[in-house]
Amino acid sequence: MIDPAWIGLKLRKLLNYAEPQGDFFARIPGMEKSQSWPSTVAYLARLIIHRYAMLGVLTEEGVPVEEMGVMAPEQSDLFAQEAPAALKQLAGKACPECGNHALIKKDGCEFCTACGHVGACG
Ligand SMILES: [Zn+2]
Repeated sequence: MIDPAWIGLKLRKLLNYAEPQGDFFARIPGMEKSQSWPSTVAYLARLIIHRYAMLGVLTEEGVPVEEMGVMAPEQSDLFAQEAPAALKQLAGKACPECGNHALIKKDGCEFCTACGHVGACG
């Protein structure tokens, strides 16, 4: 995955992702204010958007700072190094189902935010 426009699109869709009784109150990444979040997934999406905003790839709204179109070779190199590290840090363990580093703890169980796989609980 190279084009930040695609990443921003996917993340923005997750911002309204709601879980039954999954809402909670937490700080808005990068701000002093707190707000209610519909789910852990929505909060993670906001965190990742904020991370990309820090890197200058996306705005805080999750929109690409620059439309990339066809990428120059040195830009490809930049993303090959930056993007996986940022995602790995913010997400979680490798998922046994899909291999993405998107396994988080949800309601006491391992839950893959990429494919929905539910792993060991407790
Ligand atoms: Zn998975």
